[in-house]
Amino acid sequence: MQNAAIRALGLDWIYVALPVAPRNIEAALAGVRALGIVGINCTIPHKESVIPFLDEIDPTARAIGAVNTIHNKAGRLVGYNTDAYGFAASVMAEGELLFPEITVLVVGGGGVARGIAAGAAAEGAKKVILANRTRAKAEQIAKDVGAAFPDCRIEVVQASPPSLRNAAGRSELIVNATSLGMREGDELPVPADCIEADHVVFDTVYAPPDTSLLQTARARGARTIGGLGMLARQGAKSLSIWSGLQPDEDLMLSVLRKTAAERSSPAAKK
Ligand code: NAP
Repeated sequence: MQNAAIRALGLDWIYVALPVAPRNIEAALAGVRALGIVGINCTIPHKESVIPFLDEIDPTARAIGAVNTIHNKAGRLVGYNTDAYGFAASVMAEGELLFPEITVLVVGGGGVARGIAAGAAAEGAKKVILANRTRAKAEQIAKDVGAAFPDCRIEVVQASPPSLRNAAGRSELIVNATSLGMREGDELPVPADCIEADHVVFDTVYAPPDTSLLQTARARGARTIGGLGMLARQGAKSLSIWSGLQPDEDLMLSVLRKTAAERSSPAAKK
């Protein structure tokens, strides 16, 4: 999706994947400076470990505690996190929701849940409710995001069925930020009877693109948003940071959808 958007912007750039061992992070970033690479995305397991080697971190990335985008500004490396933008832009575009009018239930306590909680808080959500199997991780996210966005009301609840039902009843948007849904036979991140027809259900899982949660939510009359839009929009935001230009988000999303369809086709599975 990056190379399609880069071509459409007329830039003489190329986006490539470079596997880097954790012990080589500092050297890799020195290489970015030395080679004049304009920017990089970094992903698991490097999103936190790059931070000490950067010259500057933007406030959203600091609140999230993770960097997924680095811009090389004439040798100064500046870290950003575009997951929060990807989530918020996807909710606004595909869910047609306005954050100041909604309570957001986020199920999960990993890096993606952090980005989502920060994205909702930054957009002025009425309230963010966090639920995670390991409650301490949700508590830590509430503490960090609450410190960065003191105006946002953040609550942590048990990830038990009764607490999830109660929290869903007080929320307009339900977000799965766990990895449940990636494997066939995974249980749902929230009990099906939490979901009502007036909910919007967002699944960050994008492989497969149509998860059991999304299918269940549609069957219960709710509107749904899949994870591909967030993935496309966080990538578009990274490219806009590196280039100062506005990439074609729809083009990036259509490339992702095409790739996802090809990968989930029976021929691809053989
Ligand atoms: P992570 O840090 O590994 O966190 C995984 C989360 O899933 C944790 O909260 C974990 O709970 C929970 N979990 C895993 N198995 C569970 C189970 N059996 N029951 C209940 N909870 C369970 O992963 P991450 O980086 O946050 O990514 C989460 C998911 O987001 C990924 O799997 C991926 O599908 C999706 N993702 C989407 C995008 C996008 O742009 N759409 C980008 C990146 C990732 P504990 O804390 O209790 O272990």
